[in-house]
Amino acid sequence: MMYRPGRIFLSVPHMGGHERNYVQKALEDNWVTTAGPNIPGFEHDICQHTNSRHAVVVNSGTAAIHLALRVLGIQPGDEVLCSTFTFVATANPILYMGAHPVFVDSESETWNMSPEALQQAIEDRLRLGKKPACILLVHLYGMPAKMKELLEIAEHYGIPVIEDAAEALGSRYGGHQLGTFGRIGVFSFNGNKIITTSGGGALITNDEDLAKQAGFLAAQAKDPAPYYQHSQMGYNYRMSNISAGIGRGQIEVLEQRVKQRREIFRMYQEHFRHTEGISLLAEPKACFSNRWLTTILIDPATGKTPEDLRLGLEAQNIEVRPLWKPMHLQPLFAGAPYYGNGTSDSLFATGLCLPSSSSLTEEEQAKVAGTILKLMQS
Ligand SMILES: *Cc1c(COP(=O)(O)O)cnc(C)c1O
Repeated sequence: MMYRPGRIFLSVPHMGGHERNYVQKALEDNWVTTAGPNIPGFEHDICQHTNSRHAVVVNSGTAAIHLALRVLGIQPGDEVLCSTFTFVATANPILYMGAHPVFVDSESETWNMSPEALQQAIEDRLRLGKKPACILLVHLYGMPAKMKELLEIAEHYGIPVIEDAAEALGSRYGGHQLGTFGRIGVFSFNGNKIITTSGGGALITNDEDLAKQAGFLAAQAKDPAPYYQHSQMGYNYRMSNISAGIGRGQIEVLEQRVKQRREIFRMYQEHFRHTEGISLLAEPKACFSNRWLTTILIDPATGKTPEDLRLGLEAQNIEVRPLWKPMHLQPLFAGAPYYGNGTSDSLFATGLCLPSSSSLTEEEQAKVAGTILKLMQS
């Protein structure tokens, strides 16, 4: 990442103030390790916030997805239905398991997994003699996927759902927090997410056995014995007590961060209200997005591409990014099955993520919007 003073970034950490109290206490009490009171404390906070029974904090969102697949019993050679329009961290854990991703396209209202494409994928895999072991779906940029339709299909075929809500902490669908609809939900606290622990993640579930097993595997799978005995392969995925302390401070201001990001979205909408060729993603009925990142689509009829805008904004020391490049277009996943009609391909070709930090000032946002408007008219 190019850094020049005064740069406007896509999404930066935004402390609430109380983080330092939790961290300072951890230092004073010498809980500078992967045990300590902030860990169950932060897990409790996450349960409270999401209205979920169990939470397990770990050292990344990717680790949480890996554990979710492990505890659901995904086997080498299994097929996992996965949103194609996402960050690679969703799909990589499928490979860690020796399983095979089957990519499912987006629909255009939420940009998330298309129920039609999901149904088609399941039917086709069944026809080929292989029942998919799991559905790993994503709530991209904070926007809830069409959970009612997706869950109906999952239940009809008896396939468990994992929600990758890494970008969607604080978003709701039908009034319920995302992450609580599937067997397991996953969050990320990476530095660019809506709240951060510097790096970290969590999984939530209402199933006590799944939570226990995930916590066990995240801590090297130590059998209950006075010596080190292991019957299963575990991982060192634990979160540190220092990171969990930052998380406890951050979750206190989560609702405020959601309000701020939604306000940033609203302001961009105002700025671009009269601009032909720029559109923003509306919130469909039942959806409440945390608006982690504000994204725009640029109509190709304007003759402008996202790359034109990116270069012009970069010249003004403003960071923007293309939308995620779909997994079925990645060299890493060449040859993996894909079901869809090209919706995510065209989103990738025409979309851009704008600076959306909750700490973005009105002046900074006006500079971003003003630069885009100039570039559109040039
Ligand atoms: C950030 C992110 C992850 C991974 O989280 P990390 O904490 O960075 O490992 C997974 N899925 C999506 C959609 C993400 O945006």
